[in-house]
Amino acid sequence: MNTSPTKVALITGASRGIGKAIAISLSKSGYKLALVARNTAALESVRDEIEAAGGTARCYEADVTDAPRAAEIIHDCESQLGPIDLLVNNAGSSVAGGPLWENDLETLWKGIETNIRGPIVYCKAVLDSMIARQSGTIINMGSYASIRPIEGNPGYAASKAALVRLSDSLAVSTKPHGISVFTVSPGLVLTDMTRDVPIFKDLPPEAWSSIDDICKLVANLSSGSYSALSGRFIHVNDDLQQLAQNLDRIKSENLYTLHLANLEGPVQ
Ligand code: NAP
Repeated sequence: MNTSPTKVALITGASRGIGKAIAISLSKSGYKLALVARNTAALESVRDEIEAAGGTARCYEADVTDAPRAAEIIHDCESQLGPIDLLVNNAGSSVAGGPLWENDLETLWKGIETNIRGPIVYCKAVLDSMIARQSGTIINMGSYASIRPIEGNPGYAASKAALVRLSDSLAVSTKPHGISVFTVSPGLVLTDMTRDVPIFKDLPPEAWSSIDDICKLVANLSSGSYSALSGRFIHVNDDLQQLAQNLDRIKSENLYTLHLANLEGPVQ
C-alpha cells in the first residue's frame, strides 16, 4: 500500500458509491485527492469527510465527457495539489437498461459516452504530465459486463468491453514511459447503481462483494508493485501475488484480457 503523503490521485465519480469509498480509502493512505462528479453538494460532503479525518481534497464539478473542463481540472489540480500520480476512471452509468430496441437512443448514447469517452478524456488530460515524469498509474473501472453478454443492458456491456481494449492498448504505448494501466472489476457492489435492479433483488448475501475489497485492489495496483501486470483485466477476487508469480504464463497465453478463440484455439 502506498503511504507517501505527497502522492495525488484524481477519482472520477467520487460523489458516491465505489468512487467515494476509493477516495476515502486513498486519503487514509496519504493521497491528496481531486474529486470529480456532477453533484457538487455530494462532492463537498465527501471532501468534508476527508478533511475532518485530516486529509486533503478538492472538488471539481464536471461531466466526465467534457474535455475542456477536464483540461481545466487537471491544470488546477496540478497547481494546487501537485502532479497526478493516480487516475481512477470510476464514473459510470448504466441507466439505459432493457433490450436495445426499447432504449431511448440519446439516453443509451449518453451512458456509453460516460463509460468510454469519459475515461478517454481523462487519460488524454493526464498523460502529457505522466509521460513528462515517466511515471503514473491509470485504473479504469470495468465490470462483469466487460467480458460477458449482458442481455438487459447491451450499451453498458459494449462500453465496458471497450474500456478493456482501451486499457490494454494504452498499456502497450505507455509502458516505455513507466506508466501502468489496468481495468478492474469490482464484483457486484451495493450502490445506487445496483440497489433497485430487479435481477439483483433476491441474490444471496454471498453474491455481493465488499466495497472495501475494490478499495484494497486499487491501493495495491497504485503501489507500483504490480506494474508487470499493466494492461490486464483484474477482478476484485484475483490474487495479485499469484498473478505476479504466473506472469510468464499470463503473457504467453494472453490471459486476463479480451481475446477470441475459434475451433483451432486462440485467434492470433
Ligand atoms: P453509482 O453509485 O451510480 O455512482 C456513479 C458515480 O459516477 C457517481 O459518483 C456519479 O456522480 C458519477 N457519474 C455518473 N455519470 C457521470 C458523468 N457523466 N460525469 C461525471 N460523473 C458521473 O455507481 P457505482 O456502483 O459506485 O459505480 C462506480 C463504477 O463502478 C461505475 O463505472 C460502474 O459501472 C462500475 N461498476 C459497478 C458495479 C456495482 O456492482 N456497483 C459493478 C461493476 C462495475 P454524479 O451523479 O454526482 O455525477
